Amino acid sequence: MSLNSSQVKKVMLEIGETVEKNKEFLTELDLAIGDADHGINLTKGFRAVATKLSATETDDIGEIFTLVGMTLVGNVGGASGPLYGTAFMRAGSYAAGKTSLIADDFVGILEAAIGGIKMRGKAEAGDKTMLDALIPALNAFQEALKQGITVHGALTKAVEAALAGVNYTKEIQARKGRASYLGARSIGHQDPGATSTYLMLRTISKAVQTQGQPEK
Ligand code: ADP
Ligand code: MG
Repeated sequence: MSLNSSQVKKVMLEIGETVEKNKEFLTELDLAIGDADHGINLTKGFRAVATKLSATETDDIGEIFTLVGMTLVGNVGGASGPLYGTAFMRAGSYAAGKTSLIADDFVGILEAAIGGIKMRGKAEAGDKTMLDALIPALNAFQEALKQGITVHGALTKAVEAALAGVNYTKEIQARKGRASYLGARSIGHQDPGATSTYLMLRTISKAVQTQGQPEK
């Protein structure tokens, strides 16, 4: 079994629901080290995504991701819009022409997303950004697959690694984005973007565990 186009669309909508449920939480995190809009930004973006997705018939998963990315870029004012937007657009280029996804595609998608975020934001691991959830998640997923762990197990490991990454962001100083203006005062607070990335990955994992199993 694998994840088909309509399942991918559903996962995108579920990410929007998760973002909306965590709107206040993400905004509070951003209040501490930013400008208190991260939850608001993403909620606005993913509401627009839901509208766009409901109006498209495409089976091309690449087109679905590209639409999500372009909609985020066009509707999210903060830094996270172009960053997540680029991540999804890169995932869209990766998945162009595909009508189903398997586990190896999840690796390709995460690699593409990380590449896009790095290109757009010039951040690296340890700068206290969304990358500090995403990079550990990819590494853990790949490691688990290498060890012969099931895809579901590997997704669980990826989500655990993302959460550990979120917790790590509490210990480090921000070197990119608004939080970097605070210097050492950013230490002690978890990064909003790393947190939203973790929530997205957790939603993807839950959806895959209940909807379908990507093949190895
Ligand atoms: P803004 O900072 O413009 O208000 P948001 O509040 O929506 O935008 O998003 C803030 C999040 O964006 C941060 O918590 C961080 O994870 C992420 N971020 C900011 N700058 C960068 C960057 N250069 N590279 C990667 N992620 C970044
Ligand atoms: Mg903000």
